[in-house]
Amino acid sequence: MKSGEINIQYIKGVGEKRLQLLEKLGIKSLDDLVHFYPRDYLDFTDLTPISKIEPSSVCVFCATVGFDPVAGYTGRGKATFKTTVTDGTGTVHVTIFNSRFAASALHAGEEYLFYGKVTKSKNGLEMANPTMESLDREPGLRPVYPLTAGITSGVITRIIENALPLYFEAESNAAIPDDIRRKFNIAHEKFALSTIHFPKNKADLEIARRSLIFEELLTLQAGMRLLKSHDRGKTDYRIERDCSDEFIGSLPFTLTGAQLRTVRECIADMKRDIPMNRLVQGDVGSGKTAVAAALLYTAAKNGMQSAMMAPTEILAGQHFNTLSAMMKGTGLKVALLTGSATAKSKREIKQAVAQGKIDILVGTHALLSEDVAFSRLGFVVTDEQHRFGVRQRGTLASKGLHPHTFVMSATPIPRTLSLIIYGDLDLSVIDELPKGRQKISTYAVDSSYRKRIYAFIRKHLDKGLQAYIVCPLVEEGESDLISAGEYAETLKEKEFADYRIGLLHGKMKAKDKEKTMSRFLSGEIQLLVSTTVVEVGVDVPNAVIMVVENAERFGLSQLHQLRGRVGRGKEKSYCILITDAGGENAKARMEIMCRTNDGFQIADKDLELRGPGDFFGSRQHGLPELKIASLTENMDLVRQTRNACDAIFHRDPELNEKENVGLKAAVKKLFSEENHLSLN
Ligand code: ADP
Ligand code: MG
Repeated sequence: MKSGEINIQYIKGVGEKRLQLLEKLGIKSLDDLVHFYPRDYLDFTDLTPISKIEPSSVCVFCATVGFDPVAGYTGRGKATFKTTVTDGTGTVHVTIFNSRFAASALHAGEEYLFYGKVTKSKNGLEMANPTMESLDREPGLRPVYPLTAGITSGVITRIIENALPLYFEAESNAAIPDDIRRKFNIAHEKFALSTIHFPKNKADLEIARRSLIFEELLTLQAGMRLLKSHDRGKTDYRIERDCSDEFIGSLPFTLTGAQLRTVRECIADMKRDIPMNRLVQGDVGSGKTAVAAALLYTAAKNGMQSAMMAPTEILAGQHFNTLSAMMKGTGLKVALLTGSATAKSKREIKQAVAQGKIDILVGTHALLSEDVAFSRLGFVVTDEQHRFGVRQRGTLASKGLHPHTFVMSATPIPRTLSLIIYGDLDLSVIDELPKGRQKISTYAVDSSYRKRIYAFIRKHLDKGLQAYIVCPLVEEGESDLISAGEYAETLKEKEFADYRIGLLHGKMKAKDKEKTMSRFLSGEIQLLVSTTVVEVGVDVPNAVIMVVENAERFGLSQLHQLRGRVGRGKEKSYCILITDAGGENAKARMEIMCRTNDGFQIADKDLELRGPGDFFGSRQHGLPELKIASLTENMDLVRQTRNACDAIFHRDPELNEKENVGLKAAVKKLFSEENHLSLN
């Protein structure tokens, strides 16, 4: 029988009621059960003589019970059972509350292990409700499981004890192929699983943990690898002649080293007949558009049509203007197709595209879903697509088109992480800003500065410049936070009565958002009050102040994105973070923002201070949830499993060989339906 076919209700200790409790813990199968790992261990091996116990510390000692526990009551009427235990070096008064059952396990004159916190009072050392064990069990580390109401760690321990042999008897293929296991010094699954639940000592536990983490990371990377090779198909479009240099030479500036490197990497990809599938990560202002332009030019010169897509119409409009200017005099045709154009102009553009008269078509993502037919689409550029998960990346290929694709993202992710998150994409990084960029001065202040900040903003608006004020999203019941709508109203009535204020928030219709944004872009709106919807990269060079209210509510990377909305023109720009949060962590985060403008450094710090939740919590990257591995703490194993993956895929790119059956099954399980990924 396969492990998946064993009903856990019939495992000794489970029964109908516990079945439901287990389900609450996410345990539905035997497989889930044996992979339900302890969150901690009680270490019964590290004994302390009573005389050496530091009061208030958690420790384990071995001692003889002086007399059978004596029943009594506390002042509040709680049942107590008291005894005194000794190990020859000292004594401890032990009190067990409310459990006759626990107390009855202790017998005068016998030795036990006591685990818990020891406190000191006028009576001497005391211990309340210790975890106790008799000496007939082998001393070791005892698992502590994540719990739900109605089930104790002890119950889960016994259920797993019964489940493990069933699991090992069942037919299954190990996820880690044998030769890989040997090469990377990984333990057998049987050892790893038994030990993670019931370790004999810390050294064994370490080996087991490492093995299970290795297995999980290998599975994750193998899954990403399968996605990467999936559906790529072949393309009819290849770059035969690299003419990027002539384009680059025509630009009014010199490309940075990082920009040049990225162009080279892409051209190399596009010389092959496997479609390019590349992500470029570059901080705001690092010049991703110029890179895209060099590629668009080269693609066109090699006979391809291209599409360039942006998440909003405004952004598409900006790209159109930039590209039109850059392509002037090259003889290439650039066109803009947006929903708001007249029916007639849309028709004309579509026709020209279908006839192959347009080389570069700019628009929103609707370009691909609408009835736009290209005559020779060979290259697709997508801007700011970082919000899309793994799943969406396949859309193009699934339409039966296999153009080269180039995705631009301004969300810096620590490099080590992006290797995994974007494991299905090739990655280029623009980690260098053009020379001579002025730093955006950043300040963190408390709300007592608000009046002064308003005056500072007014001074700039009077000079014809513009500003943003960003508020966090407000959930109902969060009364101490300011919602963008109310905020804008008050400003309109008071401090900014003589100014033109606009409001932008997520609940607005896409069309209204765009309208507001373009009124801001044209200068009609001077001060824009907004939620984070303003994050996505519209360029308003005239905006020079970014104020963020309740700044502690934002992740560092998000603050950095927001800050990137200013400093895009010639004028000196400012970012002002308002927060009244006094915690150490909040302070540390504000301090980092004031100290550096480097998005990658900020991303690393964000990871350190907030943990990977910011990158993975919202599942924005569509990665499956991990049980034991941590992408940030197990970097070393991330690298090793990457190498292991290389070896495996080199031999068996689709994981169809017999030795990889287990791995493929593990991949399918990890990337199961709740992660919305389909792997065939
Ligand atoms: P982002 O990476 O944020 O999309 P953009 O492509 O919009 O950045 O570039 C920001 C600005 O920097 C643009 O005005 C662009 O013309 C300019 N720029 C790009 N590359 C360079 C460079 N190598 N030297 C100087 N300016 C550059
Ligand atoms: Mg951009």
